[in-house]
Amino acid sequence: MHPLVQKLLDLQVVDQEITSLTKDIDSLPAEEARRRRKLEEAERVAAERREKMTKAELDSRALDKAIRSSDEEIKKLNERLNVVRNNAEYQATLFSIENVRKDRDAMQEDCLHLLEQIETQRPDVVAADAVVAEEKGVLEGFLREAEALRASRADAIAEVRGRREQVAQGLPEDLLREYEGLYKTRDNMAVCPVESSYCQGCYSKITMNDTAKLMGGTSVVRCGACQRILYLSR
Ligand SMILES: [Zn+2]
Repeated sequence: MHPLVQKLLDLQVVDQEITSLTKDIDSLPAEEARRRRKLEEAERVAAERREKMTKAELDSRALDKAIRSSDEEIKKLNERLNVVRNNAEYQATLFSIENVRKDRDAMQEDCLHLLEQIETQRPDVVAADAVVAEEKGVLEGFLREAEALRASRADAIAEVRGRREQVAQGLPEDLLREYEGLYKTRDNMAVCPVESSYCQGCYSKITMNDTAKLMGGTSVVRCGACQRILYLSR
């Protein structure tokens, strides 16, 4: 085997080790972001429901106040009935009482309607708060686990990265870049064996000329179909 290909193959073993150590860790930020979005959405729903209920509560309190002042007014108008001096004034006062009472009753109805609304909104608010609490718990648990995973892997990853530097030493820069590009785009297999004239990366047939070059071991041979760097398997 060409000595540089052997070096790349050794490097690939180390890189696959790094990949298996970091695969789940690399997915943690995206997973964390997904869980944070879920929590934010739950918080948004809870805030929206609470705001709706608070508004209904404020409106019902304002109506209640208006109803009480209408009651006061009706009371005063009733008292006036006793002191009016003529029938016209009496009728006018009765008319006023009737008007105020009509408004008051309409407000009373609105107020009851709001109170009913609040009673149905309350369990929705409680349920939304429970979802927020649950999502918070899930996120906190996830963050704890993620931190523990990172901490437990830190030493192993540092060790294997150090080893990678040593293995990569002596490789020409352009060949190393080519290898790294292939490693990413070819499913973590940049260097692959040829068996019975077939590339084991893409199962394309290798030319006689390439097979001869591989046997000679003096040049770096690439698969014509997938561009992986080849070696003859024994
Ligand atoms: Zn191939």
